[in-house]
Amino acid sequence: MPRILVTNDDGVHSEGIHALAAALQPLGDVLVVAPHTESSAIGHALTLRRPLRIEEHGAGFYAVDGTPTDCVNLAVAVLLKNELPDLVVSGINTGWNLGDDVTYSGTVAGALEGALLGVPAIAVSLRRTRDYVFDFGPSAQAAALLADLVLQHGLPDRTFLNVNVPMGVPRGFQRTVQGKRNHITRISERMDPRGKPYYWIEEGIDEWTAHDRSDYHAVKQGFVSVTLLSPDMTAHAGIDAFALPEDAAIVKVAEIATKKA
Ligand code: MN
Repeated sequence: MPRILVTNDDGVHSEGIHALAAALQPLGDVLVVAPHTESSAIGHALTLRRPLRIEEHGAGFYAVDGTPTDCVNLAVAVLLKNELPDLVVSGINTGWNLGDDVTYSGTVAGALEGALLGVPAIAVSLRRTRDYVFDFGPSAQAAALLADLVLQHGLPDRTFLNVNVPMGVPRGFQRTVQGKRNHITRISERMDPRGKPYYWIEEGIDEWTAHDRSDYHAVKQGFVSVTLLSPDMTAHAGIDAFALPEDAAIVKVAEIATKKA
């Protein structure tokens, strides 16, 4: 039986992770290790300045008082005794992780950590609803179909799938590329009872640079968007397209170093 590690950023008590774990059960031994409390938009953070604890929450369910990245690492080192799982699946997040948002996402980071450990991984996100009531059925089934294929065929080395599911019954699956979001972050200033200002980062107005192959376009058309992501953020296409100082200019750097020494 393949071993499947499940994590998320909405927390161990979220409905999405329970739906995901249940849908993956027929495919292997499922181990759920997720943050104790919600840690959405925590990105790929690793907790280094305080200790972490693992708490059992029923058979196969564990909570860590840390980030999704902490969860994956503790799951492998402690619960799996340094044996890698065959697959990491992160989600199901209540809200899409499309385009540039993948850089903020704790859900995506959970899968990214899997890829860095050399394990094929999948991040799954569902469209957010206004009243926060979700039907996780179709997205959990879509995740199980993809998980089954990844277990059979694997993924290219150090890559993972970012999966976004539309509301309702999807029209199919589409291979997509990460879209571009023109994000205007809105920060609202308020006053505390002592007259000092404090700030809330609000979800701003998003504009999308629409193109046919983008993740955003696919979900808007009712398809499950499947993007192959890589931890390598090198802009390979532009690798020689910026200026560097002349070699001789390194003398100036050396001078500074000598003065300091
Ligand atoms: Mn979340």
